[in-house]
Formats: sequence, C-alpha cells, structure tokens
Amino acid sequence: MPDTTLPNSWDARAKQNSFFGFTDLPSINERGTVILTHGEGPYVVDTEGRRYLDGNSGLWNMIAGFDHPALIKAAQDQYARFPGYHAFFGRMSDQAVMLSEKLVEVSPFADGKVFYTNSGSEANDTMVKMLWFLHAAEGRPNARKIITRGNAYHGVTAVSASMTGKPYNSVFGLPLPGFLRLTCPHYWREGREGESAADFLARLVAELEEMIAREGADTIAGFFAEPVQGAGGVIPPVDGYFDAILPVLRKHGIPVIADEVITGFGRTGSVWGCESYGFLPDAIISSKALTAGFFPMGAVILGPELSDRLQRATDAIEEFPHGFTASGHPVGCAIALASIDLVLNGGLMENVQRLIPRFEAGMAKLADQDHIGEWRGRGLMGALEAVRDKATKKPFEGHLSVSERIANTCTDHGLICRPLGQSIVLCPPFIMTDAQMDEMFDKLSAALAQVFAEVA
Ligand code: PMP
Repeated sequence: MPDTTLPNSWDARAKQNSFFGFTDLPSINERGTVILTHGEGPYVVDTEGRRYLDGNSGLWNMIAGFDHPALIKAAQDQYARFPGYHAFFGRMSDQAVMLSEKLVEVSPFADGKVFYTNSGSEANDTMVKMLWFLHAAEGRPNARKIITRGNAYHGVTAVSASMTGKPYNSVFGLPLPGFLRLTCPHYWREGREGESAADFLARLVAELEEMIAREGADTIAGFFAEPVQGAGGVIPPVDGYFDAILPVLRKHGIPVIADEVITGFGRTGSVWGCESYGFLPDAIISSKALTAGFFPMGAVILGPELSDRLQRATDAIEEFPHGFTASGHPVGCAIALASIDLVLNGGLMENVQRLIPRFEAGMAKLADQDHIGEWRGRGLMGALEAVRDKATKKPFEGHLSVSERIANTCTDHGLICRPLGQSIVLCPPFIMTDAQMDEMFDKLSAALAQVFAEVA
C-alpha cells in the first residue's frame, strides 16, 4: 500500500509529488520552495502570506501583472460563450479568426498568415517544420539546416532545444545534427583583446559568409534570431548587427525568422523588437506577452512571401499535416485580443515608454560600482553582470554562486529577480508605477551590497 499521508508543509508537499524543471536542487533543498497562491498587480503572494514584487514578470510574460480585470473578464466571458475548440478540418473559432486578423494588422508585414501553438517552443518547432516542408515542396529537400547563435534560447522541445545555444542541452544528447551555431553577438564578452566593435561585427559577418560557403546555401533552411537574446542573459546585439548580417542571408535566399517570444508586444519600447532594430524578418515567432501570460499560447506569424510559399506548397499536396489539439484555443485568442488592446490602446505601451528612462537610470546607477562589469538591455529588459574585477572582466569564482546569492537575498527581501550565468536579470511588468520601480531598484541595491560584502 502506498503511504497516502500528505506531508504537512507546502514545501514538503511540492517536493513529494511535483518535479521542478530549471531548478537548482541543492538550493531548494537548503532554502525550500516558494509556493504561490495569488497575485496583486506586479506582486505575487506565497502560502505564508509573503509578498514579492516580481521583477521578472513571471517568466517575461505577465506584462499586465497578476490580476488584471480586463484579461480576467475576457477569459470569463469566453469560457461562458465557447470554452474550447481546435483549428483542424477547416473549422476554427471566431476568436481565432479575429486574432489572426489583428496579429497581421499589428505585425510589421503588409499581409500574412498566422498558425497557433501552445508555447514558444512549439511555435519554433512549427516554423522549422514549415521551412522543411516548403523547401522540399519547392524541390530543395536538402535545405534542412538551421542557423542560430550562441546563447540563443528558442525553447525546450527536441528541435527548439537544438536551436538553443546553451551547453546544458548536451545532457539530452542535443543538438540534433544540422543545427549550426554562430558566435553570440555580445561585444563586451565575445570581442577579442583590442578588437573594436566594428571589427567584431566584421568578424561575425565573415563567420556567417564562411558558414554558408562551407555548408552550402542550398542545405540551409533558415536563420533564427531573438532581436535581444533573453534567457541567454539579456544580450542586445553589437551595434549595426542586423543591418550587416541580413544582406548576407538575403543574398543566399535564406529566410530570416525573428523569435519575438520575449521582445514582442512592447518589451523593447516598440511593438516588435525587429522594429527597435530596424529590420524586417520573413516571419515572427510570438508567445508570452501575446496573452500577457494569462493563457499558454504561441503563434507563428508569416509575412507575405512565406505565406504565399507555404500556401503553394500546401496546395500541391492538399494539406499541411501539422497542428495541436489546442491550437487557436478560443479562450487564449479572446485573452490575446484583450491583451493586445491593453498594450496598444489601454496605456501599457505608453507606460513602457514612460518607464524606460527610469529603468535605464536605475540600471546605470547600480552598474556604477566595483563588482558590476556591465549593464546591458533594451527597453524594459536588462541585466547586470557581476564580476570579480571590473577592469579585466574576470568573473567571480563559480563556487561562490554570486548571482544565485543575489537573487536569493532579493527573494528574502520581497523581490523576485533572476540569476542567469553571472548576471541578474530584470524584466518588469508594463503596469509598474514609478514607486514600484524604485522599490525594485532599492531592494536589488541592498542585496548587491550585502552579497558583494560577503564575497569581496
Ligand atoms: N523563444 C524565446 C526567445 C524564449 O524566451 C522562450 C522562453 N523563455 C521560448 C522561445 C520558449 O517558449 P516556451 O517556454 O513557451 O516554450
């Protein structure tokens, strides 16, 4: 007989029957888990009644905070009207049709088509399958290789994890063959001794040219890039990056896909990250802020050329054999329509633009101390990189787990922020007030002072 007695603390119960991903086990064994019951604006509240200002908007997604009435109402109304449907066999909900129209309207494309998934990972997988499918239909069955960059994060499914430029995926025997990696365009870390930013950029362009020549342009299916790398440590590319590499990709007819799972819907100060960086991709991958985190949903938004090519490829065999049970879920679509309305017409985009100078000033002030090597970011996403030595950029010794200690100290003081490598990442909700932003920086500043005093 299994022992059915439940342990009596939330922490013990969570550990007994729930499996945590992306979680450092020694750390939760020592400190315990945090089990949350609800949210209030940009704060979340745990089972002990402790409140935390969530400086990461959950996982970059809860742009409207944790209790926004317009999103709750959109969900409730839609649950009452039509609580679930798919998008197979020529049937889909009216909400899905309206959301596709809206997404094309707010996209940087003159026209396009939308395909729905449940997550960002699935949207990237879907895009790769679309590219494989249309290249094969156009007589290039060998055009299957996918180019991404070091430190990229595109998801966790077998394909999107293969696109992700993080070494931890080797525990799964990934990447799969045919996933190619360029140098991460982070000048501060990847630039060589004495190399100017312009020389670094020229090296990246040459690397891409060499890769295409070596692999053969006709073996490459597409290039994927986050306008600002998010989970790689909030890395905006070196100045002029997209202007320099896009012509190379265009010259070889390689489709350019912008993974805007984090940057989409206002995070960088424009609706799309590609707008902030002045380039037009062939397709956009969206998720997270698409539903303000109130529903699991992703979308592939194809620009006009890929839409036409995919349509022709599909016409040839009469079907695109792909889709998820909950693709285009009507409740997710209704929430997305409400969320897009909040961003564009409900004041969220204005608040982002209003907050950006305060955010940049707060980051710059924290960066002006010995153990912060660099602050970097764009819009309302930023990272502070902790270093042992500012002049040489020498990192803290790994065993000190400095960024984890900073994040844990923040948690103790009621602020959630995220350690990524040696960096601390902030990605606040768009609804923050000035006072809440000041609270975020005050708490982080106190945590930095405490931890740097301990490890100095
Ligand atoms: N692409 C990017 C740029 C992301 O940041 C993420 C998630 N952090 C994903 C894809 C994967 O999205 P999901 O976790 O919804 O599968």
